[in-house]
Amino acid sequence: MKALRCDEPGRLSVIQRDVPRAGPGEVLVRIRRIGICGTDYHIFHGNQPYLEYPRVIGHELAGEVVEAPSGSALKSGDIVCIEPYLWCGTCRACRQGKTNCCRHLQVLGVHRDGGACEYIAVPERNVVSASGLSLDEAAMVEFLAIGAHGVRRSGANASSRVAVVGAGPIGIAAAIFAKVRGAHVSVLDMNAGRLAFCRDKIGVDHVFEVSPDIDDRLNAATDGDFFDVVIDATGSPKAMMKGFSYVGHGGTYVLLSIVRADITFNDPEFHKRETSLLGSRNATRQDFETVLDVMRGGGVPTAALASHHGSIDDAPDLIPRWSAPEAGVIKALVEV
Ligand SMILES: [Zn+2]
Ligand SMILES: [Zn+2]
Repeated sequence: MKALRCDEPGRLSVIQRDVPRAGPGEVLVRIRRIGICGTDYHIFHGNQPYLEYPRVIGHELAGEVVEAPSGSALKSGDIVCIEPYLWCGTCRACRQGKTNCCRHLQVLGVHRDGGACEYIAVPERNVVSASGLSLDEAAMVEFLAIGAHGVRRSGANASSRVAVVGAGPIGIAAAIFAKVRGAHVSVLDMNAGRLAFCRDKIGVDHVFEVSPDIDDRLNAATDGDFFDVVIDATGSPKAMMKGFSYVGHGGTYVLLSIVRADITFNDPEFHKRETSLLGSRNATRQDFETVLDVMRGGGVPTAALASHHGSIDDAPDLIPRWSAPEAGVIKALVEV
């Protein structure tokens, strides 16, 4: 079978691999769509910490069941997406249901070879039925679930004033699920095109193009209260540190971004607000199910999100191009 491998930073190739066999308790899935995201671009450019090369990429995965364990609710031909976080089930976090931050977590396409290939065998508990959805939609569940998880962590509800900082795919996902909870949502970014997308396709309440006078504009727009919930999805240490000042008194700051840096804040300002500070990592099965429900109800502008398509054969040429900001990619999908 074909597999899309990052051989070393800067070099992708389509290689041949044996078709895997499903072990006990595993499902064999024929992969049909692979979403490409910031993590993949970082792997390609050599910016992903702790990654060993070569690595078959792919963690945003959708396909069809080929073979499921006997007694499984999954049947051959079912459209599924894959929860790419292989959690141990025995560590303290897993025992508390926090499988997204398992102590021994292995993410497909990062810590071990991923699903950018024709077939993959994964534990049944990592396979999620996406019945009623298209393959494109099923391949977008994972990144949306990351946004949905951050919003769930925040506790945002219909009376919350939420600011999402950074309108890349993860920020867009957070904005969608903050709207689903009925919150009043503002999005901040430097890119006017991304902000227009959030306004026109997601229906967020306000967009703010970040400029040197942003503090004054947010102050004026909120009567000096700022935001009950601030969700950072910038991937920028500078922006993450700046975001503390957007949190209102009694508010919550959720860091979806992960960066290779120390993040610092001014303690008197932090304490004055009694800020709640939360990290948000990956997603759980519950978040996948939330995304699937909202998608099935038509609450996600999936056609607009799926901005670019290409075949696995063309992916070594396309991925470097998709990674350029001027390509205007929201979500690129590789077809197998
Ligand atoms: Zn991703
Ligand atoms: Zn665990």
